[in-house]
Amino acid sequence: MENEKQSSDVVLHLDHVSKIYGELHALDDLTLSVPRGQWLSIVGSSGSGKTTLMNIIACLDTPSRGSVVLRGVDVSGLRERELADVRKNVIGLVFQKFYLVQHLTALENVMTAQYYHSVVDESQALDALRQVGLEDRAHHLPSQLSGGEQQRVCIARALINCPEILLADEPTGNLDEANEHIVLDLFKRLHEQGTTIIVVTHDSTVASQAQREIMLNHGKLVGEQWNDEAAREEYEALVGSSSLGTFDDPTKSAKDTLSGSEE
Ligand code: ADP
Ligand code: MG
Repeated sequence: MENEKQSSDVVLHLDHVSKIYGELHALDDLTLSVPRGQWLSIVGSSGSGKTTLMNIIACLDTPSRGSVVLRGVDVSGLRERELADVRKNVIGLVFQKFYLVQHLTALENVMTAQYYHSVVDESQALDALRQVGLEDRAHHLPSQLSGGEQQRVCIARALINCPEILLADEPTGNLDEANEHIVLDLFKRLHEQGTTIIVVTHDSTVASQAQREIMLNHGKLVGEQWNDEAAREEYEALVGSSSLGTFDDPTKSAKDTLSGSEE
C-alpha cells in the first residue's frame, strides 16, 4: 500500500513560501509541487532566488513565510535533530562549489558521507565513484583531479545515501562538454531509478533534459515549460493544471545575442 501511494504522490510541496531580507523578497509567495520521481529544472537570471529556493528545499534554510512539506511532513514542525535526519536520509546535495576535503583522496571524500550514516563501507563508496566513472581515480587527491572530476566526486558523495531527492545547484557550471555528458547520463539513470531530481542551471542543454522547467524572476515563479507530455499529464492528474505560461529559454537567447552578465 505504502509503495502504491509513493509511486504517485507529491514528494515536495512549497506553499506560499517567501524569504525576506529587509526590503528584499528573495522568494516571493512561491507555490510549487513536485511529484515523486519528477526531473525538474529551475532556471532564471542571477539573483532570481534559485539558490535560496534550493537551500530551503534542502532544509538548510527556513522560509520567512509559508510552508515546506517534504514527503507529506511540514518541516517547520520538525526539531533540529529530525531536520538533520531529513538532510541525511532524504536529500542528496550537489553544490556549484566543490567543498572537497583537500587532504583526503576521492574515495575518502566519498566515505566522509558514510560517516554521517555510521557506516564505513569502502566497496559502497567505490561503487558510487564507479557510477560517476571515477573508479580509477579513487586514490587521487582533489588537487590531482580536474574540475570536472572533482565535481563528479561531489556527485558520488551525494549518492552515498541513495537520496530520494537529488538537489543540484549548477552541477555542470564548471564542466566541459565531456564531463557534462557524464553528469547528464548519470541524472538520466537516477531518474529512471525513481530519484526525484531538481537541478538549477544556466545551461539550456542541461535544463531541457528535465521533464519540466520552471523559471524564477525576482523570487516569483513566472513560467513553466514541459519537455515530457506524459509527465505533464501525470502532474495535472495529481496537482491540477497550472496557470503559468511557457517561457523563452533565457540561456538560449543570452547565448544567441550578447553574453549577459550571468555569473
Ligand atoms: P540566484 O541563486 O538565483 O542567483 P540567490 O537565491 O542566491 O539567487 O539570491 C536571491 C536574492 O537574495 C539576491 O538578491 C541575493 O542578493 C539575496 N540574498 C541571498 N541570500 C541573502 C542573505 N543571506 N542576506 C541578504 N540577501 C540575500
Ligand atoms: Mg545561485
